[in-house]
Amino acid sequence: MINSSCRHSDKTQCPESIPATEIKGNRYPDSRCQSESGHHAANDTCARPNRRSELRVSIDNPCMIVPVMAEGFPDTQNISVGFALDISKKGIGFEIAGDNRIATNQVVFGLETDDGEMEFVSAIVRFIESQVASQRIGAEFLPEVQQLFTTANIRPNYDCKELKFRTGLSIDALRAWEDCGVLVGALNDKILVCPQCESLPTWRLGCPSCGASSTTSDQLIHHFACANIGHASEYKTDGSLRCPKCKFNDLVVGVDFEYLSGPQRCHNCGWSDSKLSPIGNCLSCGLRFAGHQALEIVINGYDVRRLDPLVYLP
Ligand SMILES: [Zn+2]
Ligand SMILES: [Zn+2]
Ligand SMILES: [Zn+2]
Repeated sequence: MINSSCRHSDKTQCPESIPATEIKGNRYPDSRCQSESGHHAANDTCARPNRRSELRVSIDNPCMIVPVMAEGFPDTQNISVGFALDISKKGIGFEIAGDNRIATNQVVFGLETDDGEMEFVSAIVRFIESQVASQRIGAEFLPEVQQLFTTANIRPNYDCKELKFRTGLSIDALRAWEDCGVLVGALNDKILVCPQCESLPTWRLGCPSCGASSTTSDQLIHHFACANIGHASEYKTDGSLRCPKCKFNDLVVGVDFEYLSGPQRCHNCGWSDSKLSPIGNCLSCGLRFAGHQALEIVINGYDVRRLDPLVYLP
C-alpha cells in the first residue's frame, strides 16, 4: 500500500505513515503531491496538501462507515456513524465520534440522502485527523472495478466452465451485509442441480426405468362415430384414412377422429408405460439421475442503493 494520498500534516497520525527520511526537505515533494488529479501543474506550489483539486461541496448528512474485512465481510463490531463534511467527485470528508480507529482502510461508506435513505459506496481511507473526542476522516471513492458491490459480486452469475451459479462475494458475506442494512435481498430462488457436484444439469423426459431418452409413443386414432381406438397404422389406406372397425372412409381429423398418444416405450430397456419422467444429466461430472434425486439449492441475489457523488455537485 503506497501512501500517495495521505493528507496528514502530522505524518505520525497517518496509519501508513511515510518514514521521516522520505519527507525531509520539501515537506510535500511533488512526487507525494496530494492532488487527486495526480500532480499539480509545474508552477503550483503544492503547499496545501489537504486540498483536493476536485470541486468540493459542503454537506452535513448523517453517514455510516463499515470497515471491510478479509473476503469482503463487514466488520460489524466496528461500524461508525457520524456526519459528512464535504464531498467531491472523487472522495468524501466526514467526522465520526470517538477515537476508535477504523481497523481497515477499505470501508463501505453510507450517506443518508435527504429522503432518509442510505446510499453506499466503497472507499479507501486516505487520512485520519484526531479531534477532541472525534476523528475527521478523508476517504477516496474506489473506481468501479474495485467497488465491493458490483453486479458480479452481489448477483448470481452463471459460470460457463463450472456450470454453476456464483456470486463474487460468498453467500455468508452477502448475508452479513444484508444484516448491516447495506444490501437488500432482490432474488430468492431455488434451482435443481446435480446431486453429486451441484452443477446445473441438462434435462429431458426419458425412461423412468433406465433413464434413456430414446423412447417413442405409438400414435393412436380415436374414431368418434364408433368409438374405436387403434394404432394409426391400422387406419391407413392409400391416401385416406379408413376405420378398421366400422369401415368408414375418408376420416377428417377434428371432425371424425382425434389423435391420441399411446403408451411410451423405451428402446433401451423395453419399459412401457403411460408417462415419461424428468431425467437429469450432468455435463460436469457425468452423472445421469432421476429427477427426484436432484438437489435443490437456494440462489440469492442482492441490490444496493449506490451513492452517486455527482448528485451533490452543482
Ligand atoms: Zn429404459
Ligand atoms: Zn369407426
Ligand atoms: Zn454432477
